[in-house]
Amino acid sequence: MYRTHTCGELRKEHLGKSVTLAGWVQGIRDLGNLVFIDLRDRYGMTQLFFDKSSPLAERAKQLGREYVLQVTGFVRERSSKNPQLETGDVEMLVEKLTVLNESKTPPFTIEDVTDGGDDLRMKYRYLDLRRAVVSKNLLHRHRVAQSVREYMDGQGFADVETPFLIKSTPEGARDFVVPSRLNQGQFYALPQSPQTFKQLLMVGGFDRYYQITRCFRDEDLRADRQPEFTQIDCEMAFVEQEDVLQMFEGMVKHVFKKVRGIDLKDFPRMSYTDCLKYYGNDKPDLRFEMRLVELNNLVGGKSFKAFDEAEYVVGIVAENCSEYTRKQTDELTDWVKRPQIGSNGLVFIRCGADGSYKSSVDKYYSADDLKKIAEHCKAQVGDLILILSGGLAKTRRAAGELRLEMGTRLGLRNVEDYKPLWVLDFPLLEWDEEDKRWNAMHHPFTSWKKEDNELINTNPGAVRANAYDVVINGVELSSGSIRIHNRAQQEKMFSLLGLTEEQANYKFGFILNAFEYGAPPHGGIAFGFDRFCSIVISNLDYIRDFIAFPKNNSGRDMMLDAPSDIDARLKKELGL
Ligand code: ASP
Repeated sequence: MYRTHTCGELRKEHLGKSVTLAGWVQGIRDLGNLVFIDLRDRYGMTQLFFDKSSPLAERAKQLGREYVLQVTGFVRERSSKNPQLETGDVEMLVEKLTVLNESKTPPFTIEDVTDGGDDLRMKYRYLDLRRAVVSKNLLHRHRVAQSVREYMDGQGFADVETPFLIKSTPEGARDFVVPSRLNQGQFYALPQSPQTFKQLLMVGGFDRYYQITRCFRDEDLRADRQPEFTQIDCEMAFVEQEDVLQMFEGMVKHVFKKVRGIDLKDFPRMSYTDCLKYYGNDKPDLRFEMRLVELNNLVGGKSFKAFDEAEYVVGIVAENCSEYTRKQTDELTDWVKRPQIGSNGLVFIRCGADGSYKSSVDKYYSADDLKKIAEHCKAQVGDLILILSGGLAKTRRAAGELRLEMGTRLGLRNVEDYKPLWVLDFPLLEWDEEDKRWNAMHHPFTSWKKEDNELINTNPGAVRANAYDVVINGVELSSGSIRIHNRAQQEKMFSLLGLTEEQANYKFGFILNAFEYGAPPHGGIAFGFDRFCSIVISNLDYIRDFIAFPKNNSGRDMMLDAPSDIDARLKKELGL
């Protein structure tokens, strides 16, 4: 037996016992006549003790960090206890020591706070994984997966695997492709999601399907995007939107309860239109209010050009900020002018503690005008109103960003707090200005509201989809929809997206055909699993911490040094 206990296990109750541990040397303290070694494994750390009288003391001094040891000895009480450590009451008096393997000095310190930079830690990810702060996240991820499976299984969902080598049918992002040796000049694609397969499983009678599976998208990498990521992919037959919402609200609640002991309340629901109107984006962080207030009707006609000429004027109220210094307001103005936000400026109204109203545009607006604006915004004495103006879409987005920034600065985005939300009634289509055509906002298999059947021909942009997203604290966790399940409607959708009949048949003939053989009504959802873990565990949106071997921001695996060139012979065989 390699070990009788783990390095995280020994307590006072083990005093006097002979035990064997195996693990890595975290550190060695040589005090001359005494030597201490901290031995670490995934479960914790145990102090090993060698005294002068022991012939092992000299050997212990020769060991290095990250050596792999097996030690046998007696558990005894420590003279100075370490309350920070679960095993901190005890230590092992070592009687037998075997070096299982040596180690070079690691390129960074393997401790919670390390001196290793990102790239170095990615290159030696296997060493980074030895750090408790890193491994703990992956172990939590395992717990989240377990609780998802527990819920899904309990609800009668079958876990069915779908292929990774499929046909290229881009869903929005670019496909990763794999050249075929046996069919030279032809390619497989890696799935962006199992979307069409899960629908075909419904046609196949599977009824309730789920899978925790990898998806691949060759997108331009933004910070914290991974070219391969994991989804909890789900589909149900014979359901309406409400059934799906109930089922998956239940799943999210189950996971929070099981993993964090948190009871989430029923999720409120908000339409896409209201999200944009009140929060400036379709994934509002509801941990704080600070709604966007449209001011067009109050600010016009006062000869202030920036407002008069703007399509949209919007304010947000920062509570208790009327005493912001000039330096602070200038800094906020610079913040909204950054290219990422792209505003042309910021107007402030101070609702003074003395009942006064002062603004950065006093020249155009009387105290009375300002008071009216303040009342309209429901600003109180002591508040500061921040106003942006410009084109509707851009200004809304900017106001939404400013709201989040102010929320952060004012400490309103509490990490203890979870505010989930269903976002509903998304538009079916969005206009692609570059290609001058409609794109599916969700994907081309999403159905639209019956009430909007007429609009599909007259005003496609106004058609609402049967689509829904779960958002928590400003992070989109999932999206899904009720699907189209008949051929004619699916063909209609493809034609709206500008596909000719031939193109539709070439790309999607398999699913169009399937719809002619008794496809049941169906719908589903997929959760970004990495992101879900990040939110459930840390309430931060940082997925890389929850992936064992992530890629860096340029999509490289620093450890493998991939992507890389391939063997010339293989290239030839592939006809490349
Ligand atoms: N396949 C979709 C996606 O990856 C999710 C769904 O509609 O179920 O976003």
